[in-house]
Amino acid sequence: MATIRKHLRPVFVMFQDGISQVQIEVVLSSINMVLLNAGVNNLIRVTNFGVWRNSGYQKNGKLLPYQSVDWYIARGFQESRNNHQAYVREILVQLWNEPWQIETPHYDVVVLHSDIYDDNCNFVIGSAIKGFGMVISINRFEGLEHSIQIECIKTEVMHEVGHVFGLVPNTRTSNITESLGRHCTNQCVMRQGLAVPHAWIRYSKERLSSKQAFCSQCQQDLRNYFR
Ligand SMILES: [Zn+2]
Ligand SMILES: [Zn+2]
Repeated sequence: MATIRKHLRPVFVMFQDGISQVQIEVVLSSINMVLLNAGVNNLIRVTNFGVWRNSGYQKNGKLLPYQSVDWYIARGFQESRNNHQAYVREILVQLWNEPWQIETPHYDVVVLHSDIYDDNCNFVIGSAIKGFGMVISINRFEGLEHSIQIECIKTEVMHEVGHVFGLVPNTRTSNITESLGRHCTNQCVMRQGLAVPHAWIRYSKERLSSKQAFCSQCQQDLRNYFR
């Protein structure tokens, strides 16, 4: 009997203008890596919308709602408490409200190089909504040596995609911690890393040396999300 899968939807990825081709490739391959770990890489397609701009996305120099990645990010800046960080929650709210979600249900991923923040945080490197989507910023990793930066972006993308796919679920009772959401305490990309970038450099090095991104518990939880 074939396994019945749930939560199968494509992943739509958009990038803020100014993110390099290498960084784009890293984000896409990291999302695919999670799909592989979850056992759904042949069932979920990742679509790269790049710096997405619909035809006629602006009028008289004004960005039209839901017609470009620029507009979502501009909303984040309009609702921001300052002028140098985007308010990540506003971007997620607008992704939630977008008409495209009704047309084609999908997981949303938006990647910024601008710094982002959320309520009660000076900054965040990402924010995810379970079963819906995520916004990340590579800003805090950009000053790092290139290869370390790339590995940190991978770790961060896998972490947030993990949240989108339900990690760490309430059903799990061991090796968990509540720290700005439910996180894993095993050697795993689902650990919380409040010390940015240091914790993420360490997690990335451990991921490389163990050749395993998700611990066996998270890997199982990931597979269960689609069952
Ligand atoms: Zn997290
Ligand atoms: Zn884990």
